[in-house]
Amino acid sequence: MRIVLVGPPGAGKGTQAAFLAKNLSIPHISTGDLFRANISQGTELGLRAKAFMDAGDLVPDEITIGMAKDRMEQPDAAGGFLLDGFPRNVSQAEALDVMLEESGMKLDAVLDLEVEEDEVVKRIAGRRVCRNESAHVFHVVYAAPKTEGVCDQCGGELYQRGDDSEATVRNRLEVYHTQTEPIIDYYKAQGLLVTIPALGEVADVTKRAMDALQK
Ligand code: AMP
Repeated sequence: MRIVLVGPPGAGKGTQAAFLAKNLSIPHISTGDLFRANISQGTELGLRAKAFMDAGDLVPDEITIGMAKDRMEQPDAAGGFLLDGFPRNVSQAEALDVMLEESGMKLDAVLDLEVEEDEVVKRIAGRRVCRNESAHVFHVVYAAPKTEGVCDQCGGELYQRGDDSEATVRNRLEVYHTQTEPIIDYYKAQGLLVTIPALGEVADVTKRAMDALQK
């Protein structure tokens, strides 16, 4: 299966992507994680991406599309993948269509995680992420770890992402509305869009998503 996950920052894309990818036995490809890995390894690509990420802006397409393509061409992605955070604008969606067409493949579904804006801001402001594994996500109020600052699942250090500050979150939401939301209509027109409410328990949302994908 080839699936794209969309939704505003804080919708739970990373968390859901990890469960869905496991259930469907396909790799979880997150462009945000790829950028963060490049930044922590000090690569040229990471250096070029960092200022955009810190400001909550999109990293330019000429950097992002090549990086996503390289990852999708890895052998583990030959039988399918779940894209989390890519595409994030219509030109990336068009580039993805071209890439897939060239290899005789197509998308099976685009899963849109729907959540209200107030909820998103609350979720992001308290979000803490594990340094070892970005899908290990906690919240200081809604999903507090047993020991403050320590991941329940692997013992890793929990931290607040630099771009989860309130000012940056507002810009990320603005960027989502103006640049990313148009891909929802783009995929709706292709008959690929599946929208599910992303509120409630993580496991309930995963079940909703699996049910919707099986249809
Ligand atoms: P995420 O982890 O998906 O929230 O992404 C964190 C940040 O990485 C975003 O705010 C952007 O700055 C950058 N980023 C991730 N994916 C993309 C993309 N497809 N296009 C441009 N920038 C991206």
